[in-house]
Amino acid sequence: MKEQIFFVPEFKDAPSNPARCFVPTGRIEVNASIWPLLSKQEQEFVLNHERGHRDLKTYNEVAADNYALSKMALKKPYSLKNHVRSVSSISHGDKERVYNAQKRALQIAAKDGSKEALLLLDSPFFANADGSSARGSFVVVVAMLVTILFLVVWIKKH
Ligand SMILES: [Zn+2]
Repeated sequence: MKEQIFFVPEFKDAPSNPARCFVPTGRIEVNASIWPLLSKQEQEFVLNHERGHRDLKTYNEVAADNYALSKMALKKPYSLKNHVRSVSSISHGDKERVYNAQKRALQIAAKDGSKEALLLLDSPFFANADGSSARGSFVVVVAMLVTILFLVVWIKKH
């Protein structure tokens, strides 16, 4: 079955939302009024995020983010850095989502053989399982800077 993505002129109830999925039917709609403003990476992330809602049959944002990462990680250059950046911009800096994106990106880098990623995951920023003790914005901001810096350095070496 060919996938159908529906472009609609605008989302009247959520003007800044780039796309949405109606989970019961699996219908994915794109907000044509802001779609051209997104980068190619953000567009690809958003579509895979909505596919996550559809395929996992959930409205959970973190689950949809993780689905998108699973489809995109290590497939293109800068995929991990771009994922963190996309989640950050599309979610308008939602702390839980950004924290989760950073941690997942580091886990993938660690699995790919990065000892530095492994060390970062053992640091106090990422050591707890769900990020519940890292809700303070200072910790999240520092963790974000450290992660982006790390991913930039790590990607340059690959
Ligand atoms: Zn979503």
